[in-house]
Amino acid sequence: MHVLLVEDDALVASGIVAGLKLHGLTVDHVGTARLADAALATSHFDVCILDLGLPDEDGMALMRRWRSSGRDLPILVLTARDALDHRVEGLLGGADDYLVKPFDLHELQARLHVLVRRIAGRSTDCINHGALTFCASTGQVWMAGKPITLARRELSLLRAFLQNPHAILSTEQLCDSVYGYEQQLESNAINVHIYHLRRKLGNNIVETVRGLGYRLGPAEGASER
Ligand code: CA
Repeated sequence: MHVLLVEDDALVASGIVAGLKLHGLTVDHVGTARLADAALATSHFDVCILDLGLPDEDGMALMRRWRSSGRDLPILVLTARDALDHRVEGLLGGADDYLVKPFDLHELQARLHVLVRRIAGRSTDCINHGALTFCASTGQVWMAGKPITLARRELSLLRAFLQNPHAILSTEQLCDSVYGYEQQLESNAINVHIYHLRRKLGNNIVETVRGLGYRLGPAEGASER
């Protein structure tokens, strides 16, 4: 899951980034509305965590602007405890959920998963794909009931494929999901992670679409869990 964190408080932001990374999420952090616009223009995000008190633009105004220009990514608003009016206003202004500061990181992480799942129209936490089961909130993976250990990047990659089961994902899109848009990386890094995914989950877990990218392979060996 690729998260855009818009928060001008560096201390709060670094806590959120560290906490979410521990849960295997990819987080890009910006501190201003202007940089948030730039991030959304250059990269795909699954969800945005938005602080309402930003230095260059009110978070509410930013959100309204995004919604009126057709940006429909799920938004979780962070708000101060004394801004009760904002909470109601926040939801009306296009936010999908909110948390009152200070909040628990596990709570934030759980809310993000619920949000993304709700938007994707899924009702359970675990995704089945043939013999594969993937539980989004815990990052656990089973193949035919046997637990499989994946590295963090491999998990991010698998998550991207399972959340877009019919899409062809370009190397650039996969880099966004796995690394975040700011990170520079070697051009064959995604190939290497896909090699490891295939080695651990079977060759057909990911299909190469020549010249375009990759997509999730067909469901195989279904054993419903
Ligand atoms: Ca702030």
